[in-house]
Amino acid sequence: MKKTLITGGAGYIGSHAAKALSALGREVVVVDSLVAGHRDFLKWGEFEEGDLGDPAFLKAVFSRHDIGEVLHFAAFIAVGESVAKPDMYYGNNVRNTLNLLDAMLEADVKRLVFSSTAAVYGEPVTEVIAEDHPLSPLSPYAWSKRMIEQMLADYGRAYGLNHVCLRYFNAAGADPDGEIGERHQPETHLIPLILHTALGLRDNITLFGTDYPTPDGTCLRDYIHVTDLASAHVKALEYLESGGASRAFNLGNGNGFSVREIVDVARAVTGCAIPVVESDRRPGDSPALVSSAQAAHEILEWQPQFGDINEIVRTAWNWHQNDMAHLK
Ligand code: NAD
Ligand code: UDP
Repeated sequence: MKKTLITGGAGYIGSHAAKALSALGREVVVVDSLVAGHRDFLKWGEFEEGDLGDPAFLKAVFSRHDIGEVLHFAAFIAVGESVAKPDMYYGNNVRNTLNLLDAMLEADVKRLVFSSTAAVYGEPVTEVIAEDHPLSPLSPYAWSKRMIEQMLADYGRAYGLNHVCLRYFNAAGADPDGEIGERHQPETHLIPLILHTALGLRDNITLFGTDYPTPDGTCLRDYIHVTDLASAHVKALEYLESGGASRAFNLGNGNGFSVREIVDVARAVTGCAIPVVESDRRPGDSPALVSSAQAAHEILEWQPQFGDINEIVRTAWNWHQNDMAHLK
């Protein structure tokens, strides 16, 4: 049986995918430089430590293992940082993805599932975003993902590279068994930062922008549980293996929660006060990103299991309480 290569499998979402694939008896090889990943997240499959910026390393990995397909998570991921340092983002996300694609083609590996993002849509022109919504990225991070989607389309046409772009809305929550969870350093995401505040590691949570054209002035986001993202990767692989055509799928729950609402959910889940401080907008943020994931439901037969925002925050809270040692 051929192996599934997971780039970025020592990170937050990639490690959950490694767990999901291994649970189904698939053989997994994780490639990660540990630039942002964690050795203690490497609980499933084999590990090849190295950087996608190193074509010789990639070539060696593809010759050492009989790879059938690739799940490509490895990237830099912070919107704000990408605005300040676009070279980092185009370099690691775009250029290093080209290295990966070329290594795949050389090894005759023709199936790829790519971690894209709702940020490729930019400012929404419809209340709910389907895959045919115009693409209008607002940050170098989002542009890097948009460019990779274009590269994949071109490689698909020219070289028969079959691919699925999974446009995640906001990944959140943690493994319900508590084995892995969200640990970004520095952390920039809303839910973990709120929970760090609940744990007393921060004094307050900053609300980035309270003057958006939304019901309470703060941004709306569609939070999707990381275990549900992992199961979507399994579905996407099965789709490609059964000859499905290359395309993009949104992954979200279809419900928009404001930043203030998420703070309220976290207060209820943790029982902590969680002080807030209002601040200016963060550059590159879209006012609202809410998915229609109908295509993933109908074509991939994917159904999220953790649709309740309280449950999403509860699994994250469980993880962060146990992960205190790494947070200090
Ligand atoms: P993460 O930072 O936890 O994981 C990324 C992993 O990639 C890390 O382990 C890092 O060490 C590795 N990596 C980065 N560059 C590398 C390189 N050049 N060579 C080898 N390894 C490298 O991030 P995450 O939150 O798990 O995100 C995974 C993917 O999902 C990313 O592509 C991200 O853009 C995408 N995404 C994430 C979210 C979210 O809410 N977290 C939303 C939409 C899309
Ligand atoms: N946000 C915030 N304070 C923070 C971090 C995030 O108000 O400390 C807001 C951010 O502006 C966005 C939402 O929370 O509207 C979700 O941000 P996050 O960084 O978690 O994910 P993104 O939507 O950027 O992928």
